[in-house]
Amino acid sequence: GATVACVKLRKVFPDGTVALNDLDLHVDAGRIAVLLGPSGCGKTTLLRAMAGLTVPTSGGTTVAGRPVQAGHRASPNVAMVFQNYALYPNKTGFQNIEFPLRMARVPRAERAARVNEIARILHIEKLLSRHMHELSGGQRQRIGIGRALVRNPSLVLMDEPLSNLDADLRVQMRSEIKTLQRLLGMTLVFVTHDQSDALALADDLVVMKDGQIEQLGSPDEVYDRPASTFVAGFLGGMNIVGIGSLPATATSGISRLDPSRVTQVGIRAEDFKPGPGTPQDLTFEGTVLLTELLGRERLIHLEVGDTKLRVRVRADVPVHDGRFTGHISLNDVHAFDSAG
Ligand code: ADP
Ligand code: MG
Repeated sequence: GATVACVKLRKVFPDGTVALNDLDLHVDAGRIAVLLGPSGCGKTTLLRAMAGLTVPTSGGTTVAGRPVQAGHRASPNVAMVFQNYALYPNKTGFQNIEFPLRMARVPRAERAARVNEIARILHIEKLLSRHMHELSGGQRQRIGIGRALVRNPSLVLMDEPLSNLDADLRVQMRSEIKTLQRLLGMTLVFVTHDQSDALALADDLVVMKDGQIEQLGSPDEVYDRPASTFVAGFLGGMNIVGIGSLPATATSGISRLDPSRVTQVGIRAEDFKPGPGTPQDLTFEGTVLLTELLGRERLIHLEVGDTKLRVRVRADVPVHDGRFTGHISLNDVHAFDSAG
């Protein structure tokens, strides 16, 4: 795999939109970096800059120590997979995967060997003779990945490659992508706006906001210790509650959080336990607005005073007369100061 380094990367579009705002990012060789963030935060622009498909306004990117030059043909060591796969509809699976090798004037016999090998790894031997309109979305996706990997790239850039797939296929494809990446040892930069894809795939999770990196860390670090309410809200949909609107029953332990600095707290839906807690815990009692069954668990929309909370408990926890009492340990309260 190749190391990727972006230094003070800035992209301002002619209409004044700042898509990348002096962004620094380093991805070590052989790792999966996932760029996660809401629509419009600059993920695609960053990927295109890494691929040399966009000219940065200032700053630059190196791949394996070499500067990426926009406008130049992307290095053979870099491959990109787009959301819509960008496959040739009138070509067969074989011809689609073979195409980059043809462009590189690889001899015919070697082309066939490479296509067959990648098809074997991706379990798509049977799709090679079919045309794209004869394939399902997931099958087309595999062809697209095959085409990206056929030249043994040291860096693969994927822009929301799973977003057109249904839920089951998505989960299956992302574990296949991870298996392939480990097998082939390439560096992968994977763009998504889906937090579960991000947590499942990432070695390095890069949360973006407004053309900058909001937080970078392992999935566990970012999930357990979100650096801001933005990250907390985006990952796992934390309840963000202003200290002032916490109900009296919940505030007994809060003084230990240093309320002079803390203005908001984040509470994960899954950290609630049913029933009242000890005085060391935060206890919430409120009105159930709505419940949703999520398989073994139930999501309760709870109104506590003027605060609305999402609470996830086991599905067999009873909810009586539209009331629910739950508590969370102070250790599970994430404190944010005004800057967050
Ligand atoms: P993401 O992939 O995270 O959704 P993009 O990188 O596509 O975000 O876009 C980042 C910002 O740049 C957005 O505000 C978007 O509208 C803007 N943008 C993207 N491409 C262009 C363009 N060609 N011209 C003008 N603005 C653009
Ligand atoms: Mg995008």
